[in-house]
Amino acid sequence: MAKIIDGKAISAQIKEELKVQVAEYKAKGIDICLAVIQVGNDPASSVYVGNKKKACEFIGINSLAYELPEETTQEELLNIIKDLNNRADVNGILVQLPLPKHIDEDLVIKTIDPSKDVDGFHPQSVGALSIGQKGYVSCTPAGIIQLLKRSDIEIKGKECVVVGRSNIVGKPMALLLLREDGTVTVTHSRTKDLKEVTKRADILVVAIGKPKFITKEYVKEGATVIDVGIHRMDNGKLCGDVDYDDVFDVAGAITPVPGGVGPMTIAMLMANCVESALMN
Ligand code: NDP
Repeated sequence: MAKIIDGKAISAQIKEELKVQVAEYKAKGIDICLAVIQVGNDPASSVYVGNKKKACEFIGINSLAYELPEETTQEELLNIIKDLNNRADVNGILVQLPLPKHIDEDLVIKTIDPSKDVDGFHPQSVGALSIGQKGYVSCTPAGIIQLLKRSDIEIKGKECVVVGRSNIVGKPMALLLLREDGTVTVTHSRTKDLKEVTKRADILVVAIGKPKFITKEYVKEGATVIDVGIHRMDNGKLCGDVDYDDVFDVAGAITPVPGGVGPMTIAMLMANCVESALMN
């Protein structure tokens, strides 16, 4: 039977710690402000943006909301970002993805000043991570490292397998596990005999985007299984990329969905915002 890694409790603990830090900054006259930009009204994005605003309020970070219509042009969006880059009172800039199809996401990300890139998606932030320099780290993988550390799961010297190589989860996850001295293997849709590779993992991080894909046949007895996936099932409930009930008896520790990786993403965004007070 696996130990359940409680992301809700760990993220609450991190937010409490950040609240104290922000109060200390405020006492020194340092205010932190996050600008959140949403283009269009995709319902899932609106929920995420709402949650980010709530987290800012809880921690004591000011937030500026830009709710732009779907037909906003790329130039209009880039001009808003450039203005925010130049504003001394704005520490962090977050553009909620995905953007409408007529806007080039890569160009938008590149336009954000790297010192305000609290999502950690700017090529400069990604480059800094890959060569071990200081910079913002993408929130979901950073949250997974916190989940492991705060659950006393050692990474150093362990076989770590990441399933998925996306720019926002798989790749930065692999780099962070490497930074923590794990022995890292990255797998993807062209990996031959995925089960053989995942069965070697002491720590298995799954970010495939396919509901309940990973069953117990993919997992070594006693392994730590981190499930990044989020899917809404026909019955309205959420599930991950891991078949939780099937893997539960084999794994040593496992994250549930919901209540595992999800809450950590916002907690780490808040941590990046607090860090931004020192970056600019
Ligand atoms: P992407 O779709 O960008 O990437 C999926 C990756 O999985 C790709 O690298 C793909 O390989 C790989 N893959 C697909 N099928 C297989 C397969 N059969 N075997 C091995 N690898 C496979 O997804 P994301 O990384 O953005 O997200 C993954 C999941 O995590 C989604 O469910 C998403 O909703 C969730 N998510 C959750 C977050 C949270 O806060 N909890 C944050 C971000 C994402 P290839 O490169 O070869 O195509």
